[in-house]
Amino acid sequence: MITIKTFVFNPFQENTYLLYDETGEAVIIDPGCYAKSEEEQLSAFVEANKLTLKHLLNTHSHIDHILGNHFVSEHYSLPVQSHKEDEFLITRAKEQAVLFGMQIDEPPMPGNYLNENDTIKFGNSELKIAHAPGHSPGSLIFYSENERFMIVGDVLFNQSIGRTDLPGGNLDTLLKSIFTKLFPLGDDMKVYSGHGATTTIGQERISNPFF
Ligand SMILES: [Zn+2]
Repeated sequence: MITIKTFVFNPFQENTYLLYDETGEAVIIDPGCYAKSEEEQLSAFVEANKLTLKHLLNTHSHIDHILGNHFVSEHYSLPVQSHKEDEFLITRAKEQAVLFGMQIDEPPMPGNYLNENDTIKFGNSELKIAHAPGHSPGSLIFYSENERFMIVGDVLFNQSIGRTDLPGGNLDTLLKSIFTKLFPLGDDMKVYSGHGATTTIGQERISNPFF
C-alpha cells in the first residue's frame, strides 16, 4: 500500500511528492525544495519515517519541478530520471532561474531516461509510466492501476490544464494526451497535480472548463 506525502515547495508553490510503502522504500517525484529549510523539511521527514529513497523522478523538467534535483541527487546518491525530450529545459534552467531572481547550481542532467510503458519498482510497489506531451514535450505521468492514483505534473489540474505557451508546448497535443492517456485510466483515478489540490479524472471530465 503506497502512502503519498505532499510537500509544497519554492516560490512557485510546487507539489513535491514522496511515495513510500510498508517496506520503507520510497520514490520522490519532482523535488522542488529550494530554500535550505525546505531541504531540511524533506530530509527530516525521510529520516523520521526511516525511508530509503530508491528513485528520483521528474514528471517534466520545468524549473519549479527540478529545483531540488541537485540536493536530492547528491544527498541520496540517486540519478535523475526523466524523459529525453525535456532535456533542453534542464540546460536552460540556470539562466531561467535568474529571470525569476533565483540563484541555482547547474541542475544535474538525467542519468536514466524514462519512456512510455516503463515501470518503476520500489518495495512491494510499482508505478507505470505514460508519455503525455503538450505542456512540455517530455511530460510523463506516473500511475498505479491497483491503487487508483496518478501523479500528472502540470498536464492536468483541478479545474484547469497545463499552460501551453512555454517552449515545446502545444494545446492540441496536450488535449490529446489528456483524452488518450489520462481519461482511459478511469473516472475513479485520483489525480495529484504539480500545483494545487488533488482531484479525480471523473470530476475533471464533468466540470473542467477546458473539456
Ligand atoms: Zn511545468
